[in-house]
Amino acid sequence: MKILLANPRGFCAGVYMAIDVVDQLLDICDDDEKVFVFHEIVHNRHVVDRFRGRGVTFVESIAEVPDNSIVVFSAHGVSPSVRAEARAKNLTAIDATCPLVTKVHAEAIRFAKRGWQILLIGHRNHQEVVGTRGEAPDAIQVVESPADIPSLVINDPHKLIYLTQTTLSVDDANVMIHALKQAFPHIHEPPTSDICYATTNRQSAVRVIAPEAQLVLVVGSQNSSNSVRLTEIAESDGVPARLVDDATGLDPSWFDGINTVLVTSGASAPEDLVHGVIEALIERFGGDVEQRDVHDERVEFGLPGTLRELMRKRGLDPDSRRIRIDREADTTAWLERKHIPNRTVQVSIRASEK
Ligand code: SF4
Repeated sequence: MKILLANPRGFCAGVYMAIDVVDQLLDICDDDEKVFVFHEIVHNRHVVDRFRGRGVTFVESIAEVPDNSIVVFSAHGVSPSVRAEARAKNLTAIDATCPLVTKVHAEAIRFAKRGWQILLIGHRNHQEVVGTRGEAPDAIQVVESPADIPSLVINDPHKLIYLTQTTLSVDDANVMIHALKQAFPHIHEPPTSDICYATTNRQSAVRVIAPEAQLVLVVGSQNSSNSVRLTEIAESDGVPARLVDDATGLDPSWFDGINTVLVTSGASAPEDLVHGVIEALIERFGGDVEQRDVHDERVEFGLPGTLRELMRKRGLDPDSRRIRIDREADTTAWLERKHIPNRTVQVSIRASEK
């Protein structure tokens, strides 16, 4: 079997940052100090279970966190009401919100203050959308599909802007944006695209490589928006796709008559799970791995200000610490160690495929 391995895949800068925030907190907290995380830190079952195993408690409401404790806000961001609840309980709140989500919050606040209405394209119940909407609930209406347009209440079509969830399918978002522009020709665009670089790059890598495969395997959890979008993109190109948490999710019947598989992973899926899937495929079917480098990613985020402040209070110098990035988690070295035949191919893509 030929395994095509998409680059980039897996952890983005926001996920590295959010996971490392919890890691570093566990490093600096005393043994009797509990760390709480509001919502799953990132949408991946393994990441969450591994932290649970190290004593982290995940909560779905601030009421569950004892007064005066430490709580981490997940990468998806929270609304101001959650921050206020944390303050009222005198919690030390460490904000692991991805800066690219914070950017959308800031846009929402800015336009709402000017008296504009905001149409937020996204999945109504996704934590990111709930958090962004909470910044200006009276000014923001969520739109999931063009079917929502007739029920929108618009006061002044000249003071109208759309924003988007960061992890949408670029294609679906374009359909929605086109429908909004048809309905409201004066609607404004966000200053820069809200769909983040990681989402865009992973989707474009699948779009470029999937046509060569007969099956696409996406490593990621069911509640990971960007992972689900990757399966949808492959399927929209006519290539069947499966989302698996890890190698145990592989079903041998999927591979009948299959010679070429594209493997990728969502932005919250650890690379060792991808290794597990490759190993399972090679053990069963033999073959080789061809890494396809479609985009080079060098984005990194720094430690959040709230964590730096906590470090200073504890006599630690935050400047001596950085977000730990294991970018090369080095799959090439791992393939060599496992004696799996492999090569890497640089892919150049046309602007229309980005
Ligand atoms: S997928 Fe994008 S918005 Fe979400 S954490 Fe990663 S970089 Fe940030």
